[in-house]
Amino acid sequence: MIVDFEKDLDYLTKNFKPISLAELIALKKNGFKTSENYFHITFDDGLSELYNVVAPILLKRKIPATFFINTDFIDNNDLFYRFKASILAEKVAAHGMLDIDYNQKQDLDELAEIVKIDFKQYLETEKPYLTSSQIKELILQGFTIGAHSKNHPLYNMLSEEDQLKQTLESLDFLKNEFQLEYSVFSFPFTDDGVGKEFFKKIESKVDITFGSAGIKKDSISFNLQRIPMETNLSAEKIIKTQYFYCLLKKIFKKNIITRL
Ligand SMILES: [Zn+2]
Repeated sequence: MIVDFEKDLDYLTKNFKPISLAELIALKKNGFKTSENYFHITFDDGLSELYNVVAPILLKRKIPATFFINTDFIDNNDLFYRFKASILAEKVAAHGMLDIDYNQKQDLDELAEIVKIDFKQYLETEKPYLTSSQIKELILQGFTIGAHSKNHPLYNMLSEEDQLKQTLESLDFLKNEFQLEYSVFSFPFTDDGVGKEFFKKIESKVDITFGSAGIKKDSISFNLQRIPMETNLSAEKIIKTQYFYCLLKKIFKKNIITRL
């Protein structure tokens, strides 16, 4: 897997210029007027492997990156409900468990009690998430961080009030805790169905927000769509396929995300 990651970085750096978040924000302010092909790499979910595995590789290659963090999970204070579901599913061999959604997440804690799974214990021994001191060190190493909501809900299932709470409270937390001079956010799961009123209300508080719908333009100028790379396919294959579909969609005028 690390070999694949290195190969992907080889492909990316050969074809595109790596830029920092500060450069990306500057480009955005400038309306993306540039003739260069560039990329900025980001990672969601704030897992500890970012510190242990990913950051050293990126540092060696001098590739800047942004890590998007769920503020409730920093220091292993809590666990993403989908993780809880998969731990439970493994224990009780009930795959239906994985279909549980955000609004049922309390049920997971009750179920865990019944089958005697201690999530606190799991967090203490496995330490899946970054700690505050690891995040501070990553920042000292030159990496940038952003918010990925408080506890990773699916935004189109939340009221606008809760969407704002999840977004602004996680942004504020990081800003205060780590003295950030920039403000970026990536949507957990997807930004699909997130309305324009929401974006209007956060516009003055963020530099850039990020979705993961692939190469697409968004009617919200500060919401950039990223190319997801979490599959088994190589970066080269993913990017070439993305460009192909983008061209197709352009022909049929379907490459812009409009929002209600
Ligand atoms: Zn995520």
